[in-house]
Amino acid sequence: MSWLKTKLFYLKFRTFKKGVFLSYAQLKQRERLSPDELDKINWSKTKALIHHAYSFTPFYKKRFDQNSIDPHDIKTSQDFTRIPFLTRDDLRNHFHELIAKGVDQKHFSPTATGGSTGVPVKVLLDKRVPASSIKWRVYDWWNVSPAANMAKLWRASDAATKDTFSKRLKRWPVKIALLDVSEMSKHALRGFVDEFNELKPEVVHGYVGSVDYLASFVEENKLRLSPPKAIWVTGSPFSSVQRSRIERVFDAPLYDQYGSSEVNWMACQCGQRRGLHIVHDLRRIEFINGEDAPCGVGDEGDISVTDLENYCFPLIRYLNGDRGRLLDERCACGVTLPLMDCVKGRNIEHVRVPDGTVLSAAYLTTIFDDCPEAVKSFRIKQDEDYTLHLRFVPNKAYPLWAKTVNEAESQLKKRTHNRIRILVEETDHIGHVRGKLQFISSDVPAN
Ligand SMILES: [Zn+2]
Repeated sequence: MSWLKTKLFYLKFRTFKKGVFLSYAQLKQRERLSPDELDKINWSKTKALIHHAYSFTPFYKKRFDQNSIDPHDIKTSQDFTRIPFLTRDDLRNHFHELIAKGVDQKHFSPTATGGSTGVPVKVLLDKRVPASSIKWRVYDWWNVSPAANMAKLWRASDAATKDTFSKRLKRWPVKIALLDVSEMSKHALRGFVDEFNELKPEVVHGYVGSVDYLASFVEENKLRLSPPKAIWVTGSPFSSVQRSRIERVFDAPLYDQYGSSEVNWMACQCGQRRGLHIVHDLRRIEFINGEDAPCGVGDEGDISVTDLENYCFPLIRYLNGDRGRLLDERCACGVTLPLMDCVKGRNIEHVRVPDGTVLSAAYLTTIFDDCPEAVKSFRIKQDEDYTLHLRFVPNKAYPLWAKTVNEAESQLKKRTHNRIRILVEETDHIGHVRGKLQFISSDVPAN
């Protein structure tokens, strides 16, 4: 990377975004504290969030009162477990009551997702959180400069996610080669490979299924990619076959990051790759057993996350539908943030069209994102003969549900170029509890 570019990058941030630098320095300092000191930081942030949520959101005020919880009585981790879990249904049914009063709306960043469970929800993220500094912390673990160019495989299907001139200007001098994974045609993939080799990005970032699909395409067509320093994937788990293909084709190590639309950056692998470091200074992650109690160290359970940074839309003990376990290990890299194991329950697939086009799971999970109120849950299943079943449970309390479903159907038809049969099936129940169902699946052979 050129010396001048790095200089310009730092100059830009020091001038316009000093807060990000300060936050980065703080994160770097914290990640080597003793486990006790880290626990102290986590606990004091947890308490502050509980008080904020109780004082400023109608939802938590009511829920704490109903359960006879006084925030002042939450003095230990044990007390904390008295707070009822927050479910995806709570997010759907109490969206407005979860918004913190008194916070300026300019800090709200709305986001919606089908997540890994097929129950669409929307939340508000807090724009005041300097997300770049969290990314830089992890870049440092991978020996990647904050000013590095990136290749990004992402959904760019609507205005919010489309790459625009102003976004490019904001990123300057960092450049990003972008592949829209909502519709990966062979033509688009070839164009992206050319752009990639011209840019020579240090980091490749995307959903693991999409990155693997690109790797397979490159290998089958005997193309080459300029090797990056790190491949940063989300959407685990992935098979060892996928990992070895991706690392072989890109000639670079693959790192797993765990995050979601509701709470991004929960944990991430370092260079050792023996688990994912939980960002314990920013999130409180619990693993919950079948009796709704915390699991023992090493035991797998449902993940409950408390986002210690989001003061616009507090998420406390949110069951996000994923599973994982805490590891009882210290990492050789020197970072003292606790380790967790890769996450289960996010195994989602692609839908394929006979002409070779692939609709990525990253896109399919979002087909109701424009209007998550319309359906209570949905499932996409593709038969071996390419027939696509979109099953959904309508939310009949929402007047425009039928229109929204029709729009999703026409989007699917358009993106599959009217080449496959699409059957839209209304149902009153899709079997999943806490989201262990694989909700996008395809029986079409991969090649
Ligand atoms: Zn480590």
